[in-house]
Amino acid sequence: MTYIVNDACIACKYTDCVEVCPVDCFYEGENMLVIHPDECIDCGVCEPECPADAIRPDTEPDMEKWVEFNRKYSCLLYTSDAADE
Ligand code: SF4
Ligand code: SF4
Repeated sequence: MTYIVNDACIACKYTDCVEVCPVDCFYEGENMLVIHPDECIDCGVCEPECPADAIRPDTEPDMEKWVEFNRKYSCLLYTSDAADE
């Protein structure tokens, strides 16, 4: 299981979620954040920090597309981060 970020995050200016994550698995995209599903340890501490309710556990219905979305973009961002170094 993992947590994901959905489109309620678009254009959010708060990044309280990022600060609390113990494993730094949030990645910042162009207009929203995503969670790397393989890095998230399911601790759940980020969920109550999000005022937009954009962070959801993947155990909720119809979350598959969001897991894939988060995986796709976090992998892309992870790769581009690494390329910058
Ligand atoms: S607090 Fe919620 S809406 Fe804001 S950046 Fe974090 S996940 Fe996105
Ligand atoms: S559930 Fe925990 S590990 Fe996963 S993104 Fe949130 S704070 Fe990070």
